[in-house]
Amino acid sequence: MIAENLAQVHERIRKACEAARRDPKEVTLIAVGKTKPAELLMEAYQAGERVFGENKVQELLEKESRMPADVRWHMIGHLQRNKVRQIIGKAELIHSVDTIRLAEAIEDEAAKKKLVVPVLIEVNIGQEESKFGAAPDEVLSMIRSISVMDHIKVQGLMTIAPYVECPEDNRRLFAKMKTLSEDIRKEEIRNVRMDILSMGMTNDYEVAIQEGATMVRVGTGIFGSREQGNSI
Ligand SMILES: *Cc1c(COP(=O)(O)O)cnc(C)c1O
Repeated sequence: MIAENLAQVHERIRKACEAARRDPKEVTLIAVGKTKPAELLMEAYQAGERVFGENKVQELLEKESRMPADVRWHMIGHLQRNKVRQIIGKAELIHSVDTIRLAEAIEDEAAKKKLVVPVLIEVNIGQEESKFGAAPDEVLSMIRSISVMDHIKVQGLMTIAPYVECPEDNRRLFAKMKTLSEDIRKEEIRNVRMDILSMGMTNDYEVAIQEGATMVRVGTGIFGSREQGNSI
């Protein structure tokens, strides 16, 4: 079942790229296995999936220890500063840097481990009170501050769009993210790249791709729905 779901998601990504005249190679699928057991993730692995996202440090580490070493782990959920030490060196990309203080904690730990950590800046593009992420008008100054940290490399932006019944309702926000990313790119800030735009989930990833997403994070569409109360 997982293999079929995965194939279907890849097919829908391909079609969305085609509609937007984009090369499907520009879009990376991140299989979000949160709350699901490693056995289920292994079905996706066996079907060829190598990039997995988790939103909790403990769960990522637990699965990392149980799955093959060539899995690439992405930390996509809110990261607390006291968990930074555990995640550095385990996640290929941290999608959820949203404060300078968190970036400083990553910088300190990465310096100790002599690593350069790739990160995305999480933007609360819908300006929802309940959501993490930097306010859109704070992002540029935050990135300027982070750009002087030698052990962090900002590679782009991430957002969790609001849940909407109709994915079209998020198109405007995805387009706003793309514009924000282009505006930051034009600043040519040292040590900062804007190559990655992580946006779009099961409900709206096709619209996100049409508006320029380079990473889509799909959970339910691959692994099925999660228990109530466990969703994000
Ligand atoms: C859970 C989660 C996803 C995937 O959500 P689905 O709607 O199940 O595809 C994507 N991104 C983040 C940050 C998440 O926490």
